[in-house]
This record gives sequence, structure tokens and C-alpha cells, in this order.
Amino acid sequence: MPPTVSTEAVHPAVAPIRVPLLAWLLAVVALIVFYLLLQENGMVTTGAAAEYLHEFTHDGRHALGVPCH
Ligand SMILES: [Zn+2]
Repeated sequence: MPPTVSTEAVHPAVAPIRVPLLAWLLAVVALIVFYLLLQENGMVTTGAAAEYLHEFTHDGRHALGVPCH
């Protein structure tokens, strides 16, 4: 007699996850701030700080298609 596999082991029950509204709001604010940081290209910071911020987000800029250089 072959071993039996219960459907519970193959497809475990997935409990619904409730994400609080505050978490969604924080995620939206974080995305907006990150977008503004990506767009920042010397308007807010200057000199070494601008260069550091640019290099810190450089790969992300290209990955997201943000104008860079
Ligand atoms: Zn670039």
C-alpha cells in the first residue's frame, strides 16, 4: 500500500494577513521620500553631500529608470 499524502501537507492553509492602515501609509510615505531622494540631483544638497547621495542611489536610479546622467 503506497504512503498517503494528505492534502493539508501539500496545500497548507494560509491564514489571511491583515496589514494595518498605518503600515500602508508609512509605505506610501517611504516610497514618496525615496522617489524624491532619487530625483534629487543637486537641488537640496550641494558639494560632497550631493555626490555621496548620488552615488549611494546611483544603481537604484538606473534600475528604476530615473534620469541620471
Ligand atoms: Zn548613472
